[in-house]
Amino acid sequence: MVTVAQAEQIIAQQTRDYGTEYLGYELAMGRMLAEDLIADRDLPPYNRVTMDGIAISYSGYASGCRRFDVVTTQAAGDRPAAITADNQCIEIMTGAALPETVDTIVRYEDLSIENGTATILIDTIKRGQNVHTRGKDKKQGDVVAMSGQVVTPAIISMAASVGVSRLAVKKLPRVVIVSTGDELVGIDETPNPYQIRRSNSYTIKAALQQYGIAPDMMHLPDDPDTTYTQLQAALGAYDVLLLSGGVSMGKYDYVPSALGRLGVAPGFYKVQQRPGKPFWFGAHASGQLVFAFPGNPVSAFLCLYRYFIPWLSGIGGSNAKPLYAELAADLTFKPQLQYFLQVHVSVSEAGMLVGTPLDGNGSGDFSNLVAANAFMELPLEITTFTAGSVYRMWPFKPIV
Ligand code: AMP
Ligand code: MG
Repeated sequence: MVTVAQAEQIIAQQTRDYGTEYLGYELAMGRMLAEDLIADRDLPPYNRVTMDGIAISYSGYASGCRRFDVVTTQAAGDRPAAITADNQCIEIMTGAALPETVDTIVRYEDLSIENGTATILIDTIKRGQNVHTRGKDKKQGDVVAMSGQVVTPAIISMAASVGVSRLAVKKLPRVVIVSTGDELVGIDETPNPYQIRRSNSYTIKAALQQYGIAPDMMHLPDDPDTTYTQLQAALGAYDVLLLSGGVSMGKYDYVPSALGRLGVAPGFYKVQQRPGKPFWFGAHASGQLVFAFPGNPVSAFLCLYRYFIPWLSGIGGSNAKPLYAELAADLTFKPQLQYFLQVHVSVSEAGMLVGTPLDGNGSGDFSNLVAANAFMELPLEITTFTAGSVYRMWPFKPIV
């Protein structure tokens, strides 16, 4: 048996690179950039007018001119116009490229325009005002978003600006979710009184969907030969196997032995935690990883969010920082196991994250997961936990 920290470390050592793929914006959202995004031209690419008004040459203003003849109007997207004398101006709109013969924009609010003559009504004009100069934000060839960042709307904005319509993102592993157990039936079937529906596979699939993975699913009966041949097939077709059930000490738990015979070297079997103690993890010499979670739905859920999702985020290069919350109530937990308490974390009036225990009927009550939004990881070495203490937490829903 290993501790939670050891289990985490053993898994973290299994780094993988599944390569790069090029995706359109919809599919690239939330994925990890695999190449730097480079500015194909200066940003902004020309001296950009930032106010509607008139464009003048500052030298005319400096020599005392306050009335300017409007020679033409230039809209955004128009080819730049020109003036030929210092007492001329161009009516010009936000987004237009500043013509070479002018350098300063006076906004409509500071002007009156009558019969083709613009009169400046203020006496605080600065040379170059209301112009966003070419290359001020980025120069051509500059990195505008670095590889390793998660693709967000702001990154899509940069990609669109520099003309990259397909983003290079880290490929994700091919994942299969494997349920096991003779008591399990499909979700559309009517279970006999001694059967249950296989919910774990759908829970895991839904969670992975949020990370851009569309896993396949398979089901194994509690039979050693079928377990062996089906797992062999899965190892041939997928990078990661996420199993649930069949890893406990029961007479019909065939998963660890089948995996061992198939060359999946165990990294650990059993973690000093509740829920999820019989968690089995291993790696094949050819690279495939196997996360074999206990079948108990809360155990599988906890192990998914505590171990698999961080590993998945890690291979893309984004190790999320630990999050903490205050425990809202006193609590005692005596077993020598690291306890993952189901909590509902909310934001207190003082702006602190506070986790209220929602343990229901204990760690195995999965109906509670609907109301809870996080697990709070209570340290192994303590048995009495007092309200107001701060502990690490693992959210699995947005905190509101
Ligand atoms: P096991 O780890 O196979 O001993 O299973 C532990 C408990 O989890 C048993 O009560 C199983 O019926 C239940 N279980 C196993 N797999 C699933 C599943 N896919 N969906 C829901 N419950 C499951
Ligand atoms: Mg079972």
